[in-house]
Amino acid sequence: MQKDIATPMRTREIMRKYGFSFKKSLGQNFLIDPNILRNITKYAGLTKETGVIEIGPGIGALTEHLARRAKKVVAYEIDQRLLPILDDTLSPYDNIRILHEDVLKADLRQMIEEEFAGIQDMMVVANLPYYVTTPIILKLLEEKLPVRGIVVMLQKEVGDRIAAKPGTKDYGSLSIAIQYYTTAETVMIVPKSVFIPQPNVDSAVIRMLLREQPAADVENEGFFFDIAKMSFAQRRKTLMNNLTSGLKNGKARKDEIANAIQKAGIDPSRRGETLSMEEFAALSDVLFPLFG
Ligand code: SAM
Repeated sequence: MQKDIATPMRTREIMRKYGFSFKKSLGQNFLIDPNILRNITKYAGLTKETGVIEIGPGIGALTEHLARRAKKVVAYEIDQRLLPILDDTLSPYDNIRILHEDVLKADLRQMIEEEFAGIQDMMVVANLPYYVTTPIILKLLEEKLPVRGIVVMLQKEVGDRIAAKPGTKDYGSLSIAIQYYTTAETVMIVPKSVFIPQPNVDSAVIRMLLREQPAADVENEGFFFDIAKMSFAQRRKTLMNNLTSGLKNGKARKDEIANAIQKAGIDPSRRGETLSMEEFAALSDVLFPLFG
């Protein structure tokens, strides 16, 4: 087997050979610890039947670990300077396709149809560029792609918010948005020292497995997410205050809002951060006929 791309020595060798310099604006922090990479692929539960979508292969450190365990890997890389490098570093593998594209602009559904026809088990696995972590995850979930799950490295602080439970300081509309679609858990905390250059913050690997059905049954998904966002708009304020500020003509329709909150079985003086997913669902369903 080839020497790992991710050893510190080989990574430096590759960077020197190509005169590559990191672009901070593209979130380029490369992993230089093969053990972490092995763990990421383990948590993704890859088999030779699995198709993998990777975002941001960099110089291919994670990509080769994915290719060794999965059937096929398609990786989106935005930085053109990395394409000739990837051509070289990943030449021993015949099950990798690199697409030079911004993942946020990509038609992922069509790519899956074209590149992964006949493959039943699909996973997204990545060490994400930290400047666009949340938009990427939300895009993957909102497009309702046919994937089993998403295993990604991201800022620990964002991971904490994604996996947070009601009543904690990290719980917010991001927790609701992601836990609505997935079971989200932190599977690994990763120190800064395993990257070059070192990021300013610690990282975590989060595993999000798609639920067969969303975590709550709601009348209107868009309205449900809007209500969750409004309820957390000012964390110190009560649910009642946040909703009267957020809903259209809310101030004039205070009584209607208070009645609706009570009808959902919730005390209007509670704070948004104490509500469970089911309570947000009940709340959005009573408010939808009035404000939807
Ligand atoms: N996978 C490599 C590793 O683990 O060492 C590199 C990870 S690095 C944190 C993020 C990578 O994402 C970089 O290669 C960067 O150029 C790429 N990237 C940044 N924004 C992107 C976007 N919008 N679409 C696709 N790739 C992007």
